[in-house]
Amino acid sequence: MSLLEVKNLKVHFPVKQGLFSRVKGHVKAVDDVSLRIEPGETLGLVGESGCGKTTLGRAIIRLIEPTAGSVLFDGEDISKLTGSELRSRRRKFQMIFQDPYNSLNPRMTVEQIIGEAIDIHRLAENPAARRKRILELLEAVGLNSSHAQRYPHEFSGGQRQRIGIARALAVEPQLIVCDEPVSALDVSVQAQIINLLQDLQRQRGIAFLFIAHDLAVVEHISHRVMVMYLGKAVEVAEAKELIRNPRHPYTEALLSAVPEVDPASKRKRILLPGDVPSPISPPSGCPFHPRCPYAQPVCKTDVPPLREISPGHRSACHFAEEVGGEKLMAGTSGIQKPA
Ligand code: SF4
Repeated sequence: MSLLEVKNLKVHFPVKQGLFSRVKGHVKAVDDVSLRIEPGETLGLVGESGCGKTTLGRAIIRLIEPTAGSVLFDGEDISKLTGSELRSRRRKFQMIFQDPYNSLNPRMTVEQIIGEAIDIHRLAENPAARRKRILELLEAVGLNSSHAQRYPHEFSGGQRQRIGIARALAVEPQLIVCDEPVSALDVSVQAQIINLLQDLQRQRGIAFLFIAHDLAVVEHISHRVMVMYLGKAVEVAEAKELIRNPRHPYTEALLSAVPEVDPASKRKRILLPGDVPSPISPPSGCPFHPRCPYAQPVCKTDVPPLREISPGHRSACHFAEEVGGEKLMAGTSGIQKPA
């Protein structure tokens, strides 16, 4: 049994207009996404800004209410839980945020911030045990006892992210949703935080849903990767397989913008025309067709299902088998572009 199994999850937000706030449509931020994460595994989630990856992460841990679908955690459907039942399960899944400063109460010391999580779930029998636990957590994330009485503004960005990680660890979670946790940090500090997360995973067996827009970062930390576009999963594969052998034109374009992912790669840069379409009125058929260098007439009318093209590798493209082939590189030759 998987630690996390998400089935057909949808998060649709109503778009209201006018004096009477009539609903004129829906933003399909997450549209029928399924995924699974095994204990101790990292699933990377990538896509451009606005593709729905953060909304998906928040809906999984119920910071946003899903519109439809189910979220099975350890076999239990947490999408139906409410009140005290949900609060007690929350201990098992935590989140760390892109901007640790905004997620840390500026009026609380580090000890109070970490201690609050311990108190909510009654994880220390007495003040001495609580203090011991806080100091152990600080040490686990590379801080020390001298940091306990300081306030968030006294720390660097990387140190604040370490405090956020310590707070998440305080309740001994089995899954942490990492929402772009290194995007706001310098490259050298990014590597330190990534290494810390990997060490913690090895020591504690924690699973991560690692959300990022940078494929190089995701490839480094993830066992498997899911690529999202306009609220949908368009490709899923083991990290190395996805990098070496992308089978969706959108993944191929993302990869072509990151040459350092595979220095031996002879990939040409693929510049996608236009912007990501509005999720209020997504394109018909394949949502990527207005920007896709391989698009065919069928792409405008038929939605490509996310289908398995080799063991563990799934792509939502009608022409997944041809994508990336030597004779079929996007923008050169191969599949005819529509007239
Ligand atoms: Fe491109 Fe068509 Fe594949 Fe969509 S289904 S990614 S438009 S080739």
